[in-house]
Amino acid sequence: MSSEQKFETQLQHFGEKRQDYHGAVVPPLFQNSLFTFESWEAIDAAFDDRTKNFIYTRGKNPSVSLVEEKIANLAGGENAKLFGSGMAAISSAILHLLNPGDHVITVKNIYGPTNNLLNAYLRRKMNIDVTYVDGENIDDFVQAITDKTRLIYLESPSSAVFRLQDIAAVAKLAKEKGLKTIIDNTWATPIFQKPLAMGIDLEVHSCSKYFGGHSDIVAGVIIGSEQDIRDISVNEFELLGGKMAPFEAWLILRSLRTMPIRMQKHQENAMQVATFLENHPKIRRVNYPGLASFPQYELGCRQMSGFSGLLSFELAMEDLNQIKTFFNGLKIFQIGVSWGGHESLIYAPAISYLKELPQEQFKHLGISLGNMRISVGLENGDDLIDDLAQALDL
Ligand SMILES: *Cc1c(COP(=O)(O)O)cnc(C)c1O
Repeated sequence: MSSEQKFETQLQHFGEKRQDYHGAVVPPLFQNSLFTFESWEAIDAAFDDRTKNFIYTRGKNPSVSLVEEKIANLAGGENAKLFGSGMAAISSAILHLLNPGDHVITVKNIYGPTNNLLNAYLRRKMNIDVTYVDGENIDDFVQAITDKTRLIYLESPSSAVFRLQDIAAVAKLAKEKGLKTIIDNTWATPIFQKPLAMGIDLEVHSCSKYFGGHSDIVAGVIIGSEQDIRDISVNEFELLGGKMAPFEAWLILRSLRTMPIRMQKHQENAMQVATFLENHPKIRRVNYPGLASFPQYELGCRQMSGFSGLLSFELAMEDLNQIKTFFNGLKIFQIGVSWGGHESLIYAPAISYLKELPQEQFKHLGISLGNMRISVGLENGDDLIDDLAQALDL
């Protein structure tokens, strides 16, 4: 396969050896737990490199491996490992790099469960120390480094408020200081952002979002160097056992075919919706890195080639009943967590926060009662705007 080909072409053909599958245009699903061998010598030889040979599906399966090759190729990494969820990938990547007593620098507003993993679970189990920075200024990171620092964990754009970090600058700093870097690239996807090319060590994703794209799977992936992925494969992947099911890998293969055009449409619709909201009198603020009014718009244009479909906005009203009237009044946007699928969704982060914290305490995270997160789907953009407009008029 020529590396001159553009990514849309490679997503259709890269890694597919149709002669091995009787010419089937869709690679078959290897729905088997184990692989058989002809002799003592053959299985003995296979065990010489468990990361290269098919022996048992908790280690390696052809339906999964093909998708790993395609995703690594798309993201510009040497290799990739798929997991049973985004959190399985994230926890494995973090455990791979940390030792007890290490210090981690991360940004405010990282994905909630990642935050709980670092700041509650690993703090308790492994005495991990965590420092949060705004992340909008490289000096934030410089100031936070101690002699125990081992890892900088990024999420750009971050959850809920979509703040960016200067990825190339952080990667450069980390290399100078001998630190490792991980980025959660779920929002932008490798279609729009290539952190490995900017010097990041490991890129992680929840494939439950745009990689899957149809709201029918939960999955995750780590992309990185051959050495890191090999180490993760024989340690965190095989030992903790968070494997990807062959059928779900097969569904991701299906989804990869349309990922470039889906992302274009999510971007187009989100732009239209964000522009409408920005100009609506009942909306106080829109957080969408694709808007020219977004405070870090220039950085976004520098390090991303496009903007996906997840954004948030703040309603001007503060009365909870009025907020609920809008929320419950939407007809096309469905109420639900998660995002990145074909359908438009709405969620109010306050629903989660109110269970754990008084309102004053989550305000400093940039979240208010009227903060609404929407995942803009693949419906007609005019219909989405009409739906928001009628609910805002209720
Ligand atoms: C959903 C999500 C995750 C976790 O992925 P799961 O597949 O749900 O485990 C991690 N990071 C971000 C930014 C997410 O949105």
